[in-house]
Amino acid sequence: LIEPGQIGGPVVKGFRQGSKVVGIPTANLSTKQYSTLLFEHPSGVYFGLAGLPTCCVFKMVMNVCWNPYFNNTEKTIEPWLLHDFDEDFYGEELLLVIVGYIWPEANFPALGSLTEMIHEDRKIAEEALDLPMHSKFKDDPYLKSPH
Ligand code: ADP
Ligand code: MG
Repeated sequence: LIEPGQIGGPVVKGFRQGSKVVGIPTANLSTKQYSTLLFEHPSGVYFGLAGLPTCCVFKMVMNVCWNPYFNNTEKTIEPWLLHDFDEDFYGEELLLVIVGYIWPEANFPALGSLTEMIHEDRKIAEEALDLPMHSKFKDDPYLKSPH
């Protein structure tokens, strides 16, 4: 993903791995239009902004990874929006501006260290997105306009 990259689409259902196993929900973006793009760009952790056009813009930290549920033949795009939501938003359009790359995907033997790692990613994303060179992207009109 060439930063800043803009991608968007409906939030699709996964296997509820995020909330159930790790305790962190990730809004899985439909990857239909992005298979070539995903193939060419590295797996790992990215940060940026996420817009729900009917509502608001949030900071996000995002995992782009090979998904074991598709026998690792497909990558998924899974942003964690850094906000507490009262309800799920499956089916809603989600627009992402990807601002930076943190590091490659890591494999962790223990769930505890995975959860810790994700919280570390979140901290890095939060701080990076407060820098003026990154925070300006929250005003990107792409995040607010239905497509
Ligand atoms: P799935 O496997 O279906 O993606 P998750 O356990 O990863 O399930 O949960 C993701 C869903 O939770 C999202 O699709 C969204 O509707 C909801 N959700 C609630 N809060 C958040 C959040 N802060 N970030 C991302 N998704 C959230
Ligand atoms: Mg998810």
